[in-house]
Formats: sequence, structure tokens, C-alpha cells
Amino acid sequence: MRTQVAIIGSGPSGLMLGQLLTNAGIDNIILDRVDRDYILGRIRAGVLEQGMVDLMDRTGAGARMHKEGLPHDGFSLSFSGRMTRIDMNKLTGGKRVMVYGQTELTADLMDHRAATGGVTIYNASGVTPHDFDGDSPYVTYEKDGVTHRIDCDLIAGCDGFHGVCRASVQDKGVQNFEKVYPFGWLGLLADVPPVHHELIYANHERGFALCSQRSKERSRYYVQVPLSDEVEGWSDDAFWDELRARLPADVAEKVVTGPSIEKSIAPLRSFVAEPLRFGRLFLVGDAAHIVPPTGAKGLNLAASDVHYLFEGLQEFYSDKKWSGLDVYSERALRRIWKAERFSWSMTMLMHRFPDEGAFGQKVQESELDYLSSSTAAQTAMAENYVGLPY
Ligand SMILES: Cc1cc2nc3c(=O)[nH]c(=O)nc-3n(C[C@H](O)[C@H](O)[C@H](O)COP(=O)(O)OP(=O)(O)OC[C@H]3O[C@@H](n4cnc5c(N)ncnc54)[C@H](O)[C@@H]3O)c2cc1C
Repeated sequence: MRTQVAIIGSGPSGLMLGQLLTNAGIDNIILDRVDRDYILGRIRAGVLEQGMVDLMDRTGAGARMHKEGLPHDGFSLSFSGRMTRIDMNKLTGGKRVMVYGQTELTADLMDHRAATGGVTIYNASGVTPHDFDGDSPYVTYEKDGVTHRIDCDLIAGCDGFHGVCRASVQDKGVQNFEKVYPFGWLGLLADVPPVHHELIYANHERGFALCSQRSKERSRYYVQVPLSDEVEGWSDDAFWDELRARLPADVAEKVVTGPSIEKSIAPLRSFVAEPLRFGRLFLVGDAAHIVPPTGAKGLNLAASDVHYLFEGLQEFYSDKKWSGLDVYSERALRRIWKAERFSWSMTMLMHRFPDEGAFGQKVQESELDYLSSSTAAQTAMAENYVGLPY
């Protein structure tokens, strides 16, 4: 088999890139080690920056997102018994975010790919990129006991944090930067109306909590838990009690509870691999970086990587020039590090860090107090939350 761009990974990165390429008449094949249902069963992000919304429109798969997604103009921070609303819209001159689940977005991209004739090979095991240092890269994989080979011009590594692409460059000068946080997020998804029309981030002495949502009927809530906790140890009732205990009383009494559809614990991590290009192999999205979800940046960073890489690929195929691909890593990393910084700072601001001691706690409280009264501080937070320009 031969294609122009072999894409490894059928998550949001791979699907968005594949669709932009297909729309531009650039041949591509997507490979994933699992199937469509498995991918759509993963409950993940839900807050889209304007850049991500625009990119979805460019793929042609944005119609349902506009119909069902919920535009948000602000969010609230709760601490020391008070709530501060960050008015993103006012502070950024009219910008907003869109609440629309990653699961829905991925399904839309998959459906659009199928409708436009894009090829995706699911349940491909042992996917391996080869010879990307040279001029003739190729990818091999196994399916139904048969080994296949796809020759290509370029390989896009869109295969997430545990994928094969970054693992393939470990001896090629890749540098990893990592910070692991001493807690995780226990998340619960339920078909109950959200407690508030916007997101609420709560810093409480019992730990962080987040009131989030996927639609007007589906809520996603989180509480900070020790890494030693296991999801089996948390009944739905225990979760709801803990959530309410971390929210201001007037909010807590409005929480509508119900049986969980999904419940899971995700560890929090900051991670960046540099560079993002190794000859004809390019790392994209979670394959290259992870942020703690506090700033809602993971999926949005995948979108900006796709934007930069697609620009380079377009130039490569239309003008036979490498210049856009040559600067992909540098351009994407500049934005990645800014989002890493913001996600880290939101995480440090909103969580409880027992090891930071009383001094650390006082500094955190003082920063929240400053934020509640300073338009300049709120503007910086709003500007980052709605997403920095590409
Ligand atoms: C539990 C969890 C919760 C999250 N919550 C949030 C959130 O609230 N807000 C936010 O902004 N972000 C969140 N994120 C991050 C966000 O979901 C990711 O940033 C986003 O999925 C990145 O998309 P991606 O396509 O780069 O990677 P992925 O979505 O991970 O997709 C990678 C794809 O590659 C495939 N793959 C992996 N290895 C191979 C292989 N060897 N061969 C072939 N295929 C392979 C996988 O099956 C997968 O389909 C969360 C992530 C996790 C894990």
C-alpha cells in the first residue's frame, strides 16, 4: 500500500489532521490499535477554545458542535467561602469557549471521514514507523494475522501519550520534561443537569473540586484524590457527598445527583517532549505533551499542533517546500510551553498541596485573594483560558 501521509492514531489529533489533508486532496491513511467503539468509550475533554472550534469548521465536521455545544462566557473560582467570576468575554474583548465533549467531537470527525471516503484501519496491532530518518519511510502493522506495509512520504505520530511514535525516537535525541503531581482527579459523569450554567473550580481545605458539564442534561464532576485511591473504593454516594462538601453551601444544595455513567481516576502530569520532528516523523498532540486538565488545554493543544503541521504539509505538497515543516516543532513548542505554564499555574492555584506546608498555603490564599480583586490578574487568566492565538 502507498499513501502520502501515514497517520498513527485515530484520536482527535489524527482525525483532524486526516480530514484537513483529505479536504486538501492529500492522500492519507489513519491506523489505530483499537476500534471506533473503544475510542468513543473514553471520556475525556470538553472545553474547546475558539481556535479548536475554527479548526473543526475547517474540517467540515463542526455542524453538530455548533448546534449542541454550549458557548461559555465565563467561569467561577470558589475559595474561602466566596466565588469570583472570571468574565472571559468581557476581559478578552468578546472571546468565549465552547463546551462540547471530546467523545461527540471524535464521533463527528469519524463520521465525516467515513462520508468523505477517508481510510481508517482499526484494530491494527504492532504498528511501527520505519526509516523516517531517510527519504523512504514506511509503517508496518498486523491485522488478522497478516503483516502489512504502508509506504509514505511522511508519518504523523498522533498516537497519544502511550503510543509507539515517541517510543521510536527515544534513542534519537528526544528530550523529555516532566512534572508529576501528588494527586489525581476522580471524575464522575452523570445524566443530571449541571449545578451551574458555567464551570466552577473550587479550592477547598478538603481538596480541589470542579463542576463541569457536557450538555444541559449531562454533568461531569471531579474531586482531587490521593494517588493511592482506587475508583472501586468510591461509591456514587461517597462521591456526591465529597463534591458537595467542597462547594459553597448555596451551590452544594443545588447539586442534582444521579447514578454514574462513568467514573475514573486520572493522575495529573505535565510533560513535553522536544523536538517534535525526527526526519520525516512528526509528533502531534498527546504523543508529544500532556497537561494537567485544570486549564482545559490538552485537546486544544492537539488542535494547535494540527494547525501548524497542516500548514507545513500543505506547503510541502503544493509548493514542494520544506520550510513549513522545518519550523513545525519550534512554532508548536512555543505555544505548547505557554499552555504548559498556564495549566501548571492553575493546578498550583486550585489544589491542596499538603507538602507545601503552612507558608505555601498562605501564598496560595493570597494569590486567590489578589485574583479576586485585580482586573489585570483576571485578564491574564481569561486570556489564557480562552486560548492564546495560533
Ligand atoms: C482520562 C483523561 C481525561 C482528560 N480530560 C481532559 C480534560 O478535561 N480537558 C482537556 O483539555 N483534556 C483532557 N484530556 C486530554 C485530552 O483528552 C487529550 O489531550 C486528547 O485526547 C489528545 O488527543 P490525541 O489525538 O493527541 O491523543 P489520543 O486521544 O490519546 O489519541 C491517540 C490515539 O492513538 C491510538 N494509539 C495509541 N497507541 C497506538 C499504537 N501503538 N498504534 C496505533 N494506534 C495507537 C489510541 O488508541 C488513540 O486512539 C484528558 C485525557 C485523559 C487521558
